[in-house]
Amino acid sequence: ADPLTIDLTGYDGVVVSPGVPLNTHPIKPHAEKYGVPVIGDIELFALARADLPPHKVVGITGTNGKSTTTALVHHILQTAGMPSLMGGNIGLPIMAQDPLPDGGVYVLELSSYQIDLTFSLDCDVAVLLNITPDHLDRYDGSFEKYAASKVRLFQMQSKGQYAVITIDNPITADISEQMKTNGWWNLFEVETSDYNGECDGPALAGPHNAQNVAFARIAVASLDFDGIDVNGALRTFTGLPHRMEVVCEEDGVLFINDSKATNPDSTAPALAAYPPEEGRPRIHWIVGGLPKEDGLGPCEQHLANIAAAYTVGEAGPRFAELLEGRIPNVERCELVSEAVSRARSAAQAGDVVLFSPACASFDQFRDYEKRGEHFRQLVDVIADSADCERAPIIDGGKA
Ligand code: ADP
Repeated sequence: ADPLTIDLTGYDGVVVSPGVPLNTHPIKPHAEKYGVPVIGDIELFALARADLPPHKVVGITGTNGKSTTTALVHHILQTAGMPSLMGGNIGLPIMAQDPLPDGGVYVLELSSYQIDLTFSLDCDVAVLLNITPDHLDRYDGSFEKYAASKVRLFQMQSKGQYAVITIDNPITADISEQMKTNGWWNLFEVETSDYNGECDGPALAGPHNAQNVAFARIAVASLDFDGIDVNGALRTFTGLPHRMEVVCEEDGVLFINDSKATNPDSTAPALAAYPPEEGRPRIHWIVGGLPKEDGLGPCEQHLANIAAAYTVGEAGPRFAELLEGRIPNVERCELVSEAVSRARSAAQAGDVVLFSPACASFDQFRDYEKRGEHFRQLVDVIADSADCERAPIIDGGKA
């Protein structure tokens, strides 16, 4: 039957996917007519917790870096031999996974859409990485509403639980200030100077990953387990597929798949991650696809790191125009295969072939994952990657 016409009298809740826009979808007012809450699978998990063996929950939200930080915390725990699993906006749905044994840790990546459908998740450790304007269409264009949605992760916690929050921007600094005066939480504030240090592992290049590592460290420390070798685990972290994923290193040339970077904002940290060595720029940048916006955005700041650009896809000619005369070499390629083979020929030992398109994939691919797999296969063909270390493929799509 059509949920919008069902008589919901006596229902405990209506479970919807986080993809349903609550601000405009008629299911919300329909359920409200009957006083029935609209919830998501994370709320079902929260309600089931009382029946699970003793465990802890780490909840991670933010605009960027959620998946990476979630995977990092999970990897650190697994390396230490602790039972843990990932759920929420990453991997398999939480309710589709077997419960953990006694002492397990559920590490949940939570988008604001998921938090909006969750009302009783009391995280032992709640993490807010960053907030920048994004997805505002779901919040009636209001950044304050978007921020308020994320803050609810803390508001659901009981007294004395751990809250880890960035104070890099005025909004979160203000939120943190209010949380401090209140005295409810065990609060950790993190700011940029706390993570300006060295790169912690081969798959953790770039200032954005330094931020993710800083948060992961505090989250793990807050769990209060003994004998966890965080540094060792960081070195064996292979990263997530399609996010600055090291596909292969051949003859000193690194091949990086950053297909997840679908706009200039997410490509910028990848360009920042490989500065010149001895004055020589090292990045062979494969860029283009279906443009989301015009211009280079924050990539402008890292042009000095680029040895050559190989433009592909619908946005290729526009990127070529923007870059010509500003970096040593621009090659118009159209196809990713052409770009990979030209980049391979031009790259010297110490260089990086970086596939970070700064565009959506839909001009030539089904999604960013298919696009990244295509790049990997091309690299496999040209490089002998038999002994490369690979990121594990995680099942299930993003909500
Ligand atoms: P999310 O799950 O929040 O989308 P991911 O960990 O999948 O985040 O990273 C997506 C992209 O966002 C990465 O390719 C990277 O370019 C960028 N990114 C990752 N971490 C951060 C961060 N801490 N701050 C800003 N950008 C980041």
